Amino acid sequence: MSCLFCKIIAGEISSDKVYEDETVYAFRDIDPKAKQHILVIPKKHLESANELIGETADIVADVFRAIAKISKDQGFDKSGYRVVTNCGENGGQTVGHLHFHVLAGQAMGWPPFPN
Ligand code: 5GP
Ligand code: ZN
Repeated sequence: MSCLFCKIIAGEISSDKVYEDETVYAFRDIDPKAKQHILVIPKKHLESANELIGETADIVADVFRAIAKISKDQGFDKSGYRVVTNCGENGGQTVGHLHFHVLAGQAMGWPPFPN
C-alpha cells in the first residue's frame, strides 16, 4: 500500500484522530491552513472527487454526516466552517486519496483566490 492516507487509516503512520466510524476517518491536518483544520476521508481508497460516480458517491453522505458530528463535538457548528475538496492539478490536490478539508476557528474570505 503506497497511499499516505491509507497508511494513516491503517495506523501505520500516526495521526491526531478526531473521529472514526465504519466508513470515515478524520484527523488534524499536519500543516493547518486555519485555526482548526481537519481532514475527513473515506476509508475506501478513492483517488479524488472524479471517482464519485454511481453508488460510490454515497460515501459523500457518510462524510458529511461525520462533518456535522465533528463540527458539533469541536464546537464550531454555530460559529461556522468551510468544507473544501481539492481535485487534480488546478484544484491544488497533493494527496491522491479523496479528502475533505474542514476549516474553522476564524472568519474566512470569499472568493478564496486573489484577483
Ligand atoms: P491537498 O493539498 O491534497 O488538498 O491536501 C492534502 C493535505 O494533507 C494538506 O493540507 C497537507 O498539509 C496534509 N498532509 C500531508 N501529509 C500529511 C500527513 O502526513 N499527516 C497529516 N495529518 N496531514 C498531512
Ligand atoms: Zn488511499
